[in-house]
Amino acid sequence: MPELTPDEVHSLARTLLDQQVAYAQGRPLVSDLEYDRLFDRLKAHEEAHPEQKLTWSPTQRVGSDLSADFPEFSHTVPVLSLDKAYSPAEVFTWLAKTAKLTSRSLTVTAEQKMDGLSLVLYYKEGVLERAVTRGDGTKGNDVTGNVKTLATVPLRLNLPLTMAVRGEVFLPKSDFAHLNAQLEEPYANPRNLAAGTLRRVKSAEVAKVPLKMFVYEAFVSSPEAQIPQSHRAALDLLASQGFPLNPHLGLFEPEHNLELEAFVAEQTVLRPGLEWEIDGLVFKVDDLALRDELGATGHHPRWALAYKFESPQARTFVEEIFIQVGRTGRVTPVARVKPAQVGGTTVTFITLHNNANIETLGLGIGDEVAISRRGDVIPAVEEVLEHQGTVWSFPPLCPDCSWELELRGAHHFCPNSACPAQVKGKLAFFVGRGQMDIESLGPETLEVLVSQGLVRDVADLFTCDFEALRGVPGFGDKKIAALKEGVALARTRPFTTLLASLGVPELGKKLVELLVGAGVLSFNQLVETLLQNPESLLEVHGIGAKTLETLKTELLAPAVLGLAQRLQAAGLSLEAPPPTAAQSQSLLGTVWCVTGSFVGFNPRSLAEEEIVRRSGKVVSAVSGKTTHLLAGAGAGSKLEKAQGLGLRIVSEDEFITLLQ
Ligand code: AMP
Ligand code: ZN
Repeated sequence: MPELTPDEVHSLARTLLDQQVAYAQGRPLVSDLEYDRLFDRLKAHEEAHPEQKLTWSPTQRVGSDLSADFPEFSHTVPVLSLDKAYSPAEVFTWLAKTAKLTSRSLTVTAEQKMDGLSLVLYYKEGVLERAVTRGDGTKGNDVTGNVKTLATVPLRLNLPLTMAVRGEVFLPKSDFAHLNAQLEEPYANPRNLAAGTLRRVKSAEVAKVPLKMFVYEAFVSSPEAQIPQSHRAALDLLASQGFPLNPHLGLFEPEHNLELEAFVAEQTVLRPGLEWEIDGLVFKVDDLALRDELGATGHHPRWALAYKFESPQARTFVEEIFIQVGRTGRVTPVARVKPAQVGGTTVTFITLHNNANIETLGLGIGDEVAISRRGDVIPAVEEVLEHQGTVWSFPPLCPDCSWELELRGAHHFCPNSACPAQVKGKLAFFVGRGQMDIESLGPETLEVLVSQGLVRDVADLFTCDFEALRGVPGFGDKKIAALKEGVALARTRPFTTLLASLGVPELGKKLVELLVGAGVLSFNQLVETLLQNPESLLEVHGIGAKTLETLKTELLAPAVLGLAQRLQAAGLSLEAPPPTAAQSQSLLGTVWCVTGSFVGFNPRSLAEEEIVRRSGKVVSAVSGKTTHLLAGAGAGSKLEKAQGLGLRIVSEDEFITLLQ
């Protein structure tokens, strides 16, 4: 056989690499025989001329018998951990927070969080130079020889890129099952077997295990023209160079929480059927310049967040159980535990919900318990691990007013509506953010107002003589002026806000919006409807029989009716401003759905009031009967649906023009 020239060595190696990749992807380019022939030819040449062996030679895929120890290598790119979330709600919070930190528009990608081994591949001018484990994030082990046996890791690229590529090495589940069955000492999971394999001393052994890799991050330093601007572009670049990528990729904007939630749900369902193990999803800011802007803490980048499927657990001890009285009088038992770390936060207080839950758990003080942060982030006691003897029993009296507690359904209640805990709770809710929003009325101020006997309910706030506080420590001119100003401002809030702030069970913002949409434009009208024709409200999409029943009992309670009267007497408006005659019919016959958020109509019910006042109808879901969609910022699935149905889509600006 004639000698190979250096050029021929190069091109033969190139051909073999392509064939290996194609083979690994299940679409071989040539017969096995032909492949072996070319492979042996190159191998023989390399043995005869070791100095001509290319660093990226495909012959390394079968490994060598040389023993390698794994020298340490200092990473030149950050190999950080990820911040964690355990519910979509936590992801939304992170998105909202991140969106606030920037004026750029925010797009995030979502990927599967591979449960494998983190690896960094260092390429120099297009050639794989080094493969290093994550190690402690600063230094890892150089496992280049072993990684070169992975058929899916490109040893040489089409472009002369100098970059670091991060990814995850894993063993497909089916290969794991097959291999593990043959082992004397089986591994617990694919991840452990993959880890054991990658640390084998003989790379020939590694080559026998079909390890795979997905890459998910590229730090390109040259050539300049190839430096991507976005994560998506980076992934595209990696794909174009033959890197294996996980095919599951989502793309979201912070306003589209529903779509994001659907993606999470879909991935949760897909998970058990996947060929590889995942333990969560990773959300990443797409814009790479924005990533730089956001930076990182010492532990994790601020531009990424891992959502984990399983909530973390911990063991701890119950030190105390006490009860808390809420604004509705509902009593909640709470456990104070020996502070424990669960998924990165310290947990000290855990709600126990109700007595039935405590009995089911068989929980008592001193017990050792397993605790978790569930999908809803709220810490929970999962089970008693070691019981001390007595199950905790519910105290008979309210700790705040000493009235006897009543059991209604699953929960205990304090029946005393003058109970200081309830009064304070109602007041705090009323003045809270998103409600009447009276900033100067913080918890300490409320405490003083209640204990001085100046305020017994929310109506008292509007008749209270704050001057009487002069002389009380902390109530100087400035504070008293702020209180007066805060209360004066609260008087101007729309009636919808007032209604939703009363703390009537069920009557939150959502229900108020639905009611306004159905044409209920005052408190009195609501009372009348509930008295005379409550069934008419069942026609409103989103109001069910149970909601209606609760609303009837709670809103028509004498205490609430009396409160409304006193608020009105104090000058607050419990109705929408009256329409002017000229406008009142302009939207007759139209049916509107309102979605997204608005600058001039906040809360959204303000826009709905405008429509209803002009005789238009408002519905909460888009259907064939809908004629208009008022779409604010962040409109999501409703907008898509409305477009599909060919509805008239109206922006906030157009809406304002229309109203005029
Ligand atoms: P943790 O080690 O739990 O803080 O999680 C961070 C690790 O998740 C990273 O170091 C990666 O090894 C791993 N990981 C798996 N899949 C991805 C992905 N798609 N994007 C980023 N990191 C990932
Ligand atoms: Zn009480």
